[in-house]
Amino acid sequence: MFLSVFDVFKIGVGPSSSHTMGPMSAANRFLDLLLSNEWPRPSSNVHVASIKVSLHGSLAHTGIGHGTGRAVILGLMGERPDQVDPDRMDIVIDEVERSGRIMPPGHPAYQFQPKTDLIFDKKVPLPGHANGMSFSAFDKDDRLLVKRIYYSVGGGFVVTDTELEQMRADKKKSAASGERIPFPFATAKQMLEMSERSGLSIAQMKRANEETRMSSDELDAGLDRIWAAMSSCIDRGLKVDGIMPGGLKVRRRARAIHDKLQEEWRSNRINPLLANDWLSVYAMAVNEENAAGGRVVTAPTNGAAGVIPATIRYYQHFHEDWDQDGIRNYLLTAAAVGGIIKHNASISGAEVGCQGEVGSAAAMAAAGLAAVMGASPEQIENAAEIALEHHLGMTCDPVAGLVQVPCIERNALGAVKAVTAASLAIKGDGQHFVPLDACIETMRQTGYDMSEKYKETSTGGLAVNVVEC
Ligand code: SF4
Repeated sequence: MFLSVFDVFKIGVGPSSSHTMGPMSAANRFLDLLLSNEWPRPSSNVHVASIKVSLHGSLAHTGIGHGTGRAVILGLMGERPDQVDPDRMDIVIDEVERSGRIMPPGHPAYQFQPKTDLIFDKKVPLPGHANGMSFSAFDKDDRLLVKRIYYSVGGGFVVTDTELEQMRADKKKSAASGERIPFPFATAKQMLEMSERSGLSIAQMKRANEETRMSSDELDAGLDRIWAAMSSCIDRGLKVDGIMPGGLKVRRRARAIHDKLQEEWRSNRINPLLANDWLSVYAMAVNEENAAGGRVVTAPTNGAAGVIPATIRYYQHFHEDWDQDGIRNYLLTAAAVGGIIKHNASISGAEVGCQGEVGSAAAMAAAGLAAVMGASPEQIENAAEIALEHHLGMTCDPVAGLVQVPCIERNALGAVKAVTAASLAIKGDGQHFVPLDACIETMRQTGYDMSEKYKETSTGGLAVNVVEC
């Protein structure tokens, strides 16, 4: 099992990794397929003339609030999550709606009328996963030429139906078999054993694994890019005011809170909740940017994107000895824990509820922070466990299918819990009652038992009990 730090932390756009970035990437993959030889053409003069897309399950239920349709259109126009310019997205979509055509670079124009060719099918879920999509291409006589099913499995990852089956089969195989990395840990127990045997920290083992694919300098440059994108997301979120899109009329709060905190900081007034307030405002800044469709880094998802940046900025703000190496070690440690959670349970709200998103983010943040505060591997594992344990059972019930309520505040609270978990773990000796692996397995089982209403469908919880104005 190997999940790169750059698979966990991906630069993209809001508001959702599974409902925005995943569908955009699926559309990119379908375009690549059309140009490839991976499907049989009836004859050389048969060409793709039109495209149709249908969205299923959670993508159909909450896709409008999450901007899934917009993401599909942008993806079909050749825009990629890490490169698309958030300020140009409306222009591209208007152009497709006006012309009824998709014109991706390197392709001929295809007929695509969003109103009729992009279907939100709430009745028929696809069998493999809650976030299913079907892309079909037709010739000029409307004969089906090629069809692919993709699943957005959380954190922006997209797989075909065959790849999903393969992934599930691979999970059942021995974790250590066939790996070409020096530290192929698939569980927290294995991670601690390998650390003990090698004498290396979790971050050092993760680094050694990553360096089988790239040089040390490339790895550092990539990690620095990730933090720079997270950091500028916080800064943008602290500057912008106003109402977030989607119709709920939720006002951004990060800027006003930040102004108050700065004023308090300057006046030297004693605030017993100082660290909590700063953590919260950093997390909210990121998630308000995410809700507005801005540039965000999955950590491990968009909905939970605020927890990790908030705790890194907290580390810079409140720990005088912070440095760039510390941030790199934080990200590597957090990614190691995120990989274990994804491998053994899930980081997707549509699969296991919000415990898998904000709960995983808090566990990763607690581990990263504990690492840079000098914790032992056992204390780091303990920190991740404490943070995850106290998110178990948390449902996903976004009001109006928008990643705003409860998501924005939830990230603030996730960041506060992560710091508390790291602090508690460091005050112990690493020995503790509930192993992280048991906690992850509990999350998986709880998510499996959770009603579909609470898994990113907006058909239960706050989503049905809050009256929209
Ligand atoms: S409630 Fe949690 S899992 Fe659901 S959309 Fe919001 S942040 Fe994501």
